[in-house]
Parts: sequence; C-alpha cells; structure tokens
Amino acid sequence: MKIICIGRNYRDHAAEMNAEVPTEPVFFMKPDTAVLKDNTFYFPSFTSEIHYECELLVRIDRMGKHIDPAFAHKYYSSIGLGIDFTARDLQSRCKDKGLPWEIAKAFDQSAVLSNHWISKDGINPNSISFDFYQNGVLKQSGDTASMLFTIDQIIAYVSKFITLKTGDVIFTGTPAGVGPIKPGDKLLGRLLGKEMFSIDVA
Ligand code: MG
Repeated sequence: MKIICIGRNYRDHAAEMNAEVPTEPVFFMKPDTAVLKDNTFYFPSFTSEIHYECELLVRIDRMGKHIDPAFAHKYYSSIGLGIDFTARDLQSRCKDKGLPWEIAKAFDQSAVLSNHWISKDGINPNSISFDFYQNGVLKQSGDTASMLFTIDQIIAYVSKFITLKTGDVIFTGTPAGVGPIKPGDKLLGRLLGKEMFSIDVA
C-alpha cells in the first residue's frame, strides 16, 4: 500500500504558506511505514516543529493507470479523514536548498488514517466538509468545494505517472489553519459531522 499526498490543493493554504497556486496537482508520497499504528503520536527528536494538516482521504479499491477523469469515480468507493504530519522546520530547510521533502513528510507516524471509512454512495464528492480540533478548539474547516483539483482530477493526474492499486490512500490536501502541535495535545477530526480520529500527542 502506498500513500500519495497532494500539496497546495486549497488556495487559502497556499497563501498562508506564501506558495504559488499550482496549475497542475503537486504530489509527494509517504511509505506504508508512515502510518500511525495506535492513537498516540510520539513527538520525534529530529524536529522541534511538527504541524498538523488535516485532509480528506480517498481509498483506491481498483487497480488503474492512465485513468480518464470521467471514469476516476469508479476507482474509489470510500472516503476517510487523516493528518499529514509535517516537520515544518525540516521542510523549510529542504525548500530553501531545493531538496526533496521526505525527511519532513515521510517519517514514521506521519500519516494518520481514520479508523473507519465512509461510503461515497449518495455523497457529492465536490461538497464534502470536514473539521479539525486541537484541544477542543476548531482549527481547520475544509470543504472539497474549495479544492483547486477535484478528486477525479487528482486520480487521473497521479495515475498518468504511477499505477494505483487497491488499498492505496490519497491525501487530498489541507485547507488553511495549519499549526504546531505539542505533547499533551488532543487532536480530533470530523468528516461530515462524524468523528473519524482522536489522537493524543505524547
Ligand atoms: Mg498536506
């Protein structure tokens, strides 16, 4: 199973990062070892600045390559919610030097996947709302209506380069409001009003 993450898919997040709005999807990957195993995130020693990025997840359930956008909806049947943990200090250093981002994005525990998934049947994929709370305070509110690239466009674009397989997960990008975490935090995500994950930071 592989994890594909879209960067800068919300205009307001690109703006808060002082990043250009892309004309094509930007993606990077996390290995399967990045998946957080229990519901506790242990703050790693190689960074002093980890940011949460709450994102809608799409789980691929059919193998495909060169998928036409018109048929992309046939390649997934459920959605979830996750966190793309980012070592922002390391990412800034990588960006400054024009280096790849893996140490900032692909480390162990950096991918939170919701414990359950919601069937996409009857849901408009271009109007899915989600919320993220840190210690009970609402920090991020997203809606796929604000994505620069739709789920179908993302699936079509990524599959031009990389074969998608059953079980692969796509992180579809984060809205504005990203910020740092610290030990003792409680992180909670809701998708369409339903609690999807609850994480302790240690
Ligand atoms: Mg992200």
